[in-house]
Amino acid sequence: MSPVIEWLRNLGLANYEEIFVREEIDWDTLKSLTEEDLFSIGVTALGPRKKIVNSILELRKEIAEEKVAQQDVTKIIPFDAGTKPSKLITDYFICSVSERKKVCATDRAQTEVERTCSSASRKRLQKKTPAKSAKFKDIPVWCSIPGTPFRVDAFKYLRRDCSHWFLSHFHLDHYQGLTKSFCHGKIYCSSITAKLVNLKIGIPWDMMQVLPINQKINIAGIDVTCFDANHCPGSLIILFEPPNGKAVLHTGDFRFCEEMTRNAILQTCGVHSLILDTTYCDPQYDFPKQEAVIQFVIESIQAETFNSKTLFLIGSYTIGKERLFVEVARALQKKVYVTASKLSILECLGFTREEMQFFTLNEQESQIHVVPMWTLASFKRLKYVSNQYAGRYSLIVAFSPTGWSFGKGKKKSTGSRWQQGTIIRYEVPYSEHSSFSELKEFVKFVSPVNIIPSVNNHGPESSSA
Ligand SMILES: [Zn+2]
Repeated sequence: MSPVIEWLRNLGLANYEEIFVREEIDWDTLKSLTEEDLFSIGVTALGPRKKIVNSILELRKEIAEEKVAQQDVTKIIPFDAGTKPSKLITDYFICSVSERKKVCATDRAQTEVERTCSSASRKRLQKKTPAKSAKFKDIPVWCSIPGTPFRVDAFKYLRRDCSHWFLSHFHLDHYQGLTKSFCHGKIYCSSITAKLVNLKIGIPWDMMQVLPINQKINIAGIDVTCFDANHCPGSLIILFEPPNGKAVLHTGDFRFCEEMTRNAILQTCGVHSLILDTTYCDPQYDFPKQEAVIQFVIESIQAETFNSKTLFLIGSYTIGKERLFVEVARALQKKVYVTASKLSILECLGFTREEMQFFTLNEQESQIHVVPMWTLASFKRLKYVSNQYAGRYSLIVAFSPTGWSFGKGKKKSTGSRWQQGTIIRYEVPYSEHSSFSELKEFVKFVSPVNIIPSVNNHGPESSSA
């Protein structure tokens, strides 16, 4: 029995075995699963989902404690070429360049990234973790901006000692804890995020301050500049420049693009601490650019349209993956069907009038439908959809866009196609997070003194930043 299945059974959740087997979730993947991932693969009931999330957190804590124990003995965690890569970015930058060369690609970019970061990471590990007051021990380091009175994506940790709350983007794992009764000060976010916070949570406009893009402003004596994070609409990378001269760059969730390296402010700001979205910090996640995946989807739709009774389904989160279906609509000059609630969100996202014309509420008007990601998670679910459209469509072609489709044991391509009878299911590595190569390039460009990973951040190195 695989350790994951054994673990599931111990939780009394054997009925989810099929999902975990189908999604090829192994021990490494399990540790990085988020609540959103669980939802998208079909663990939709709240009880089991929370149970799994809590258990994964316990698992990560155990791993972190093991690492602390090891650190106490050795002071520096030695790199072991025999161990599998974990998702902590500091694991990649921890060892000396010569040690890394044994197991890593030795391209110039990576070597330079390591030179920049390895000594800093080691120094951090050698430092004793400072004692923290009991009151603040629960606030993760990636939520607190050193040298400022600011918190980012920290609504789960609301405290009276802070009155400046930044929200990088409108994804549940970042705004969780924010409710209509929020009364802890001001919320700072992009104009798109502010619209969504107002629409979906009901926070009044006078409690929010909209942050401009590429323009330095001063908040409570600290210079703050925001950049487009190229993640979901309204997502921000935020630069904080406190008076102590130690600039902090918080990426929120981001997908690196070349344009970022051409930004004059980012080129010259000199970042001390980089709080980095390390979702895909593992060499196996070297998926293609979004443009290549979009082109693959367009060509696949064109290739499947030999049957006029074909229904195309494109997966989407509440916010996210919009660019994929908008570009498909643009290239094919066809409308896409969305539900009324989806349209009310799309109206907040800053699309042009021309782009809004691509959406229709009349499902008879389009054979391309935007649907929640989880409805495409399995052939079983797709069969259910297929039965609903039995009279009208004879073929279902579904596209499930996620970077996780590029993981271990998966084919490294712009898309994989499976077919069961009259249902065709594509998994396409369309990601709104940076690939491993892009993370390396971004770190090289920013050249920070410290890196604080914001995902799977349970290692000892992260708590001493
Ligand atoms: Zn996100």
